[in-house]
Amino acid sequence: MPEGHSVQRTANEFNKKFKGKVVRVDSPQGRFSSEAKLIDGRVLKGAKAIGKQLFLNFDNGLTCRVHLGIYGKWRFIDEIEKAMYGQVRARFYNEDFLADLRGPTICEVIDRRAVKDIENRLGPDPTNTDPRGLQKQRFIERVQSSASPIGILLMNQEVISGIGNVYRAEILFRAQISPHLPGKALSVFQIEELWLDSVKLMKVGVATGFMTTREERLKKRTKKADRNYVYKREGQKCLRCEGLVSIELMATRKLYWCPGCQF
Ligand SMILES: [Zn+2]
Repeated sequence: MPEGHSVQRTANEFNKKFKGKVVRVDSPQGRFSSEAKLIDGRVLKGAKAIGKQLFLNFDNGLTCRVHLGIYGKWRFIDEIEKAMYGQVRARFYNEDFLADLRGPTICEVIDRRAVKDIENRLGPDPTNTDPRGLQKQRFIERVQSSASPIGILLMNQEVISGIGNVYRAEILFRAQISPHLPGKALSVFQIEELWLDSVKLMKVGVATGFMTTREERLKKRTKKADRNYVYKREGQKCLRCEGLVSIELMATRKLYWCPGCQF
């Protein structure tokens, strides 16, 4: 499942190619045909990502909301002739560009009120700008008021949007915090650090497309096996202490961490 940085990249791509322009929308596969008609031929006012969800806002007040889920995929094509048909749920295009959406969990057209409801439910997203620190404050409040382990809170999209399994493991390792600590046992300083580090790491993810988290490699192109401290490194020596990286299941997802460094 893509983490938030890749949805942010999709939003950026949409803004680059379609923002301020008339966009044609249809559904080669047919399942999105009647909803596509509601936004076909309208101007895209802007694309926005919150966590794992993408919002395409059109000039008639309607929004197309997309959640890729596990199997969904976007494909951007610059040469329209090369477009394929088949199982394309939604196709967005103009004379120059085309974007095909396949296999999403959600692809629907909703009005402003429904967008607001979803936005209010979703936790703050570290890839979005936060000039007044309100997003950070919301995150601090949501963590502090919960007795759930921080390892579960970071995956809860109502606490923070866009963090998945890789960033969860890596952010906690970098902060040297045990995933089992209850949210309310963390200090405000620690929670703030988790937020600021998410902002920093996801910025790298949005810029490069890779979830690199090892400090000395953030600015380099690194092969997959060397990008992270603990993710998928179970049984190997920790890069910081003498211990071994551990794996366990937490809320049905694999959790990687170092019991030697994180307590
Ligand atoms: Zn360690």
